[in-house]
Amino acid sequence: MKNISSYNFAGKRALIRVDFNVPLNKETLEVTDDTRIKAAIPTIKKVLESGGSVVLMSHLGRPKNIPEDKFSLKNIISKVEENLGQSIQFATDCISAKAFEMSANLKPGEVLLLENLRFHEGEKKGDVEMAKKLAQHGDVYINDAFGTAHRAHASTAVIAQFFPNDKMFGYLIEKEIESVDKVLKSNQKPLTAIVGGAKVSSKISIITELMNKVDNLIVGGGMAYTFIKAQGGQIGNSLVEEDFLETAREIMSAAKEKGVNLLIPTDTIIADEFSNEANTKSVKIDQIPDGWMGLDIAEDSIKAFKQCVLDSKLILWNGPMGVFELEKFQNGTKEIALAVAKATKNGAFSLVGGGDSVAAVNQFHLADQVSHVSTGGGAMLEYLEGVTLPGIAAIIND
Ligand code: AMP
Repeated sequence: MKNISSYNFAGKRALIRVDFNVPLNKETLEVTDDTRIKAAIPTIKKVLESGGSVVLMSHLGRPKNIPEDKFSLKNIISKVEENLGQSIQFATDCISAKAFEMSANLKPGEVLLLENLRFHEGEKKGDVEMAKKLAQHGDVYINDAFGTAHRAHASTAVIAQFFPNDKMFGYLIEKEIESVDKVLKSNQKPLTAIVGGAKVSSKISIITELMNKVDNLIVGGGMAYTFIKAQGGQIGNSLVEEDFLETAREIMSAAKEKGVNLLIPTDTIIADEFSNEANTKSVKIDQIPDGWMGLDIAEDSIKAFKQCVLDSKLILWNGPMGVFELEKFQNGTKEIALAVAKATKNGAFSLVGGGDSVAAVNQFHLADQVSHVSTGGGAMLEYLEGVTLPGIAAIIND
């Protein structure tokens, strides 16, 4: 495996798998959020500044293996140019003769963007022939698409075999890997994981994995009520997964056995309907009357969780503490986000990963006050669960 920082790109064409799967306005097909494009710029610039040329490949949306205008990467050309500060070329098919002619003629400093990889079914199928064709576009392969690293697609994993001596991660993936490793492999203590969100069922693998590593495990959000019911509490109409009551009990006894400090909310904000217009009260979490549901953590829980976060040296956060999308129930998530930011300021390392907690720190404008916000939702979760991601393995393995 080579390293992007020390690799000599002079006179080479770097084929970079980026994640340009950005949201587009449905009518105008303009990019509405260019975060992912911005995130890829350092890797692209590195190649260009050290004398190489760049071929960019990505997917966009979920086309059905045929070209569709609304999924065309031509829609993002101007945004890429704006962020890169130079004009780029575009190939209207990623593996056509014309595309190969264009990449073959690239001069140092030039950039070519290929059309959506998923216009060909070979991409998602992880077809070796498709990967082999794509490989002709570059002398060196860089994977910088963390969001698709958990997929064994032609461009994300299979292609790496055609670059046995010239494959590497881009800066973005490098940082994602470094951040997770910093949390899960360093010996700094205490390590606190905050796991929230809707369901126990979707977080069970990550909790099981974390149980072997963390000092403190904070459980919040909708999944907390399954834990409360499992202990005999009354949870009214709160979210519950009856099939996971036993799992919740197992998690609680595993925590005892392994000496993990498990923090479950003690009080909650309840509502008589799932809306911002609901009547609300703060009650003990195991005494929720029928007809009411818990939609956020309340004062005592916030205080206990915050203290734990502030005492931590390493913090991993996945999943909100309540229904933060509704203003009335955002306080718990916001307070925890503020605590994570404060702990970071005091020297802790914090990693926020997985869809909704990322949305939450963005909503509260705290993304730049935590150590790392992961760009890869599903990929980050699988990586945290200890799964070997195909896109990462393909680069690391010789
Ligand atoms: P997840 O994708 O599993 O991380 O779940 C995130 C979702 O969980 C968000 O949309 C939240 O609104 C939702 N959520 C958090 N707390 C609760 C709760 N107490 N009741 C219902 N939904 C919740």
